[in-house]
Amino acid sequence: MSFGFLQSSLQQRDAQGLLRKRYSVNANKDGMIQIDDRFYINFASNDYLGLSQHSQVQQAFAEGLSMYGTGSGASSVVTGYSQEHKALEDDICTVLNKPAALLFSSGFSANQATCHALFNAKENPQGHILCDKYMHASFIQGALETSAKLTRYRHNNFEHAAEQIAKLPPNSMVATEGVFSMDGDTGNIARLANIINDQHKGQARPWLMVDDAHAFGVLGDNGFGTLDGGTSHNVNNCAAVKSEDVQVIMATFGKAVGTGGAFVAGSQDLIDYMVNMSKHYVYSTSFSAAQARASRAALALIEQGEQRDKLHQNITSFTQLAKHSGLALLDSNSAIQPIICACPKKALQYSAKLAELGLWVPAIRTPTVPKNTDRLRITLSALHTEQDIQALIEALCIVIQQ
Ligand SMILES: *Cc1c(COP(=O)(O)O)cnc(C)c1O
Repeated sequence: MSFGFLQSSLQQRDAQGLLRKRYSVNANKDGMIQIDDRFYINFASNDYLGLSQHSQVQQAFAEGLSMYGTGSGASSVVTGYSQEHKALEDDICTVLNKPAALLFSSGFSANQATCHALFNAKENPQGHILCDKYMHASFIQGALETSAKLTRYRHNNFEHAAEQIAKLPPNSMVATEGVFSMDGDTGNIARLANIINDQHKGQARPWLMVDDAHAFGVLGDNGFGTLDGGTSHNVNNCAAVKSEDVQVIMATFGKAVGTGGAFVAGSQDLIDYMVNMSKHYVYSTSFSAAQARASRAALALIEQGEQRDKLHQNITSFTQLAKHSGLALLDSNSAIQPIICACPKKALQYSAKLAELGLWVPAIRTPTVPKNTDRLRITLSALHTEQDIQALIEALCIVIQQ
């Protein structure tokens, strides 16, 4: 039978407790979600600030809809690039102190496009990509498809990184994340930049790229992530990062910004090159102008900081209560708080029991996370109340200590 592997590999995944299922959400408001007929407190969303539900963001979306319609109608290099897209790119450049930025429909395609642009067999046959072991699948996938030699250093192990950085040839790139998507710790970008600067003087310096999907909107003095300059809310007390030390910065709008899509920012040459050469950009319809307008409204709210302050209060309250209750947490001071269960079936079992208690906490299993680190991935949000956090702690104690 043709394609019989479809069924056999699904059966194999199921037997290992690794089959993925989807749940359709009927309603999502104020930190609660409704699935089938039941309501749950939602600890599974990356909408860290609740901005997808904020009236000002929704109002901007609605204005955009009446001004530009629902779809952009074309690729950005045809007629899909509106003044709203341009204004959003300009906002990104201003807050991150970068000369140019480019919008993508998803972070997945932004990462792929970046890898393809910088490492193609014709123009850069010798370059290497070195990245943290826990780099997101969209980046790894993109890197594997290029001509680059890909190596990974042990997660946040800067001695291991330094050894490999020393050996990088010209036209290479080091990549890491601002806040790691599954562990919630930071990439210590300032330290990585120092290592690169120490080992490579002048022209052949490798570029440093940061995927800031989980830091943008959350970290930094004004909330704009790793390059924001400030050190407040800088989760591991890492030193501030200079914008010029990070040649490529990428982040998404689908998480803390509350809309969707992503950007890559860097030099004017990088962005002009991608506009010309990136198939992910040229052959893809741009996201709607209304979405760009809504994203700009979200950036303004991020800068004001009210939701960020609430999120950071919730993080502090969760980590303190968890410590008090003897729950084993990872070294994360971000909105991402994993609880390691060490086996996929256990993670599923905990997740199901939490659901019975009215809490939606997803089980994240291998291959999304390394083998034997299957986990509950709790995400906190500015929409949670103190009672929500207390309910979570109590439920975790019941489920784990049973
Ligand atoms: C979510 C995520 C992406 C992909 O972004 P999408 O806009 O969801 O496609 C890329 N990198 C990291 C670290 C992410 O968490």
